[in-house]
Amino acid sequence: QKLAITPDRHVDSVCPYCGVGCQLTFNIKDEKIVAVSGRQGPANKSRLCVKGRYGFDYVANPERLTTPLIRRDDVAKSDSLPFDASNPLTHFREASWEEALDLAAGKLNHVRDTYGPSAMSGFGSAKGSNEEAYLVQKLVRTGFKTNNVDHCTRLCHASSVAALLENIGSGAVTASFSECRNSDAIIVIGSNPTVNHPVAATFIKNAAQKGAKLYVMDPRGQALDRYAEESLNFVPGTDVALLNGLIHVIIDEGLYDSDYVKNQTEGFEDLKARTASSTPEAMSAICGIAPDTIRDVARGYANAKAAMIFWGMGISQHTHGTDNSRCLISLALLTGNVGKPGAGLHPLRGQNNVQGASDAGLIPMFFPDYKPVGDPEIRAKYENLWNAKLDPEKGLTVVEITDAAYNGDIKAMYVMGENPAMSDPDQAHARAALANLDILVVQDIFMTETAAFADVILPASAFPEKNGTFTNTDRRVQMGRQAIDPPGDARQDWWIIQELANRMGLSWSYTHARDIFGEMRMVMPSLTGITWDRLLKEDAVTYPCADENSEGKDVIFGDGFPTASGRGRMTPADVLPPDEMPDAEFPLVMSTGRLLEHWHTGSMTRRATVLDALEPEPEVHVSPSDLQSLQVSAGDLIRVVTRRGEIALAARVDPKLPAGMIFVPFCFNEAPANMLTNPALDPYGKIPELKFSAARLETVVEA
Ligand code: SF4
Repeated sequence: QKLAITPDRHVDSVCPYCGVGCQLTFNIKDEKIVAVSGRQGPANKSRLCVKGRYGFDYVANPERLTTPLIRRDDVAKSDSLPFDASNPLTHFREASWEEALDLAAGKLNHVRDTYGPSAMSGFGSAKGSNEEAYLVQKLVRTGFKTNNVDHCTRLCHASSVAALLENIGSGAVTASFSECRNSDAIIVIGSNPTVNHPVAATFIKNAAQKGAKLYVMDPRGQALDRYAEESLNFVPGTDVALLNGLIHVIIDEGLYDSDYVKNQTEGFEDLKARTASSTPEAMSAICGIAPDTIRDVARGYANAKAAMIFWGMGISQHTHGTDNSRCLISLALLTGNVGKPGAGLHPLRGQNNVQGASDAGLIPMFFPDYKPVGDPEIRAKYENLWNAKLDPEKGLTVVEITDAAYNGDIKAMYVMGENPAMSDPDQAHARAALANLDILVVQDIFMTETAAFADVILPASAFPEKNGTFTNTDRRVQMGRQAIDPPGDARQDWWIIQELANRMGLSWSYTHARDIFGEMRMVMPSLTGITWDRLLKEDAVTYPCADENSEGKDVIFGDGFPTASGRGRMTPADVLPPDEMPDAEFPLVMSTGRLLEHWHTGSMTRRATVLDALEPEPEVHVSPSDLQSLQVSAGDLIRVVTRRGEIALAARVDPKLPAGMIFVPFCFNEAPANMLTNPALDPYGKIPELKFSAARLETVVEA
């Protein structure tokens, strides 16, 4: 790539945004990132999307936090919002690191010792490195003495992971996304990769152009439809009906792989009995897809020599999210589409390190590598390694922690790099919960909505300012390298966590992220063949990887599953309605999600000049007919109302939306979508139903 400016130096790293994990090079001049170029990484082959290429000047934004801050005595928590991110001194005063860390640790110790460990909680980040995730969960488990530790995977793929662990014994993908080059059929369901995983989408398009039959299943139309054999715009929330219809046809017409089912799986008879009445006609009445289309897609998928299934949060963010994923797993197992080239199950991970943060134990029920906290033998191993007595009970999940803070049962919270005041459902409730805490410590790079409620704010380093490893959606562990220094007195995240830990009575002495990675390798079999030095040399190694000289495996489970029986299980699912159905008062279905140009709560991308210029304002996406019924035009201000609250934002006409459905991006803090969302949880994955809330639109009369 020819650059307009000649850089002083180049640093190879990876992209900090989505789980695709594109490798890139930072081009640096005068200690500033002046351009980013794609590299020949295994996940991107030099390709980058708009965020990877243009999403980096946020690091030099003047609103960066550069010194520790302590809440002013004269600003009540209830007055935290609104705030001016460019002037935190309206709410806070500057402090030295010594004072801020002493105050934070002292108050955290006080809550733990006064109310007990169950009053403590911590959120890490799927944007942090593996080493940072490992340290956050270790601090909460050994310093806070509780398993109340979680992160935004709970809002993302928790239900997918619950179903995968239950049925194939592993929460990770069974094949990398680029494996679709060997597929004859590809299902993309509940996912809009062109927007959310843009470079992965290019591999899917390439496969379709080479002849793979692509089936896109999404209530909304999307850009991949152009490449699809069939696009199934089913009724929102009826995923199980559509998938049970496919399963029924495959069993009824004898299209399943009987040898594979007999030798590698269990649960077939139960699945057959429970889907016996799920005829295409019966399921069509629920999901709205024609019976013959259900038959055609079932035949196309089952008759493929190798087929992959990709899914996203349209599957997982439902109260029946685990059931949705169970159906996808059953489809793959019925047809033997696991463990061979071109076949597999691939939940597309959202954040750049959601896989790695979960692997590192940043979840309330598992130690690193998904070892249950309730198992005495496993716990003894960790107690020995960490020299600490550990809590045998599973901890609370993200939304449960927020509820407990609201009720006063959780009194202390440490938040590293997350923004629950924007990302949690039913935001008025979430913000009241944050205001109710005795002590909130926030470690971040900007004054987020969550930081506004903090007692102590610790200024951290942005992605290009630190070293660390990150695990992409393919199980690929990659090296992120420091390119520039943090601004002012901002510090490395691992250093901040260690300083807090040592002030809470622990005795840590890491000197570099490399030391932490070394400790992780002692307890995480997934990292057996992956050393820091190997990553420095090779940049990326996929696990499982038998030893330091072996290649990692892209496709896994060709020789059985890591379950008790060694077989994959097909768990049937019943058709259940979403938690909150539309009615006369709230007749529309509201879904939330991301935009191509913006990432999650927008704290980085809305400060990236090009990205913010491309998508500068909050808009609610509405079908042409619903807009016409409301008698408003594109660009007019309208109000979206649900049982939790209301926001006003401009209308955008979206012909790909069906009548009766609206879409609100959740990255705009001036019109926060999560003011509106339903906090009802999937019973297994504890993920909220962010993809389905009953809503109505109202016109806004401007004064
Ligand atoms: Fe970054 Fe994802 Fe875009 Fe790649 S596809 S450049 S990882 S945001």
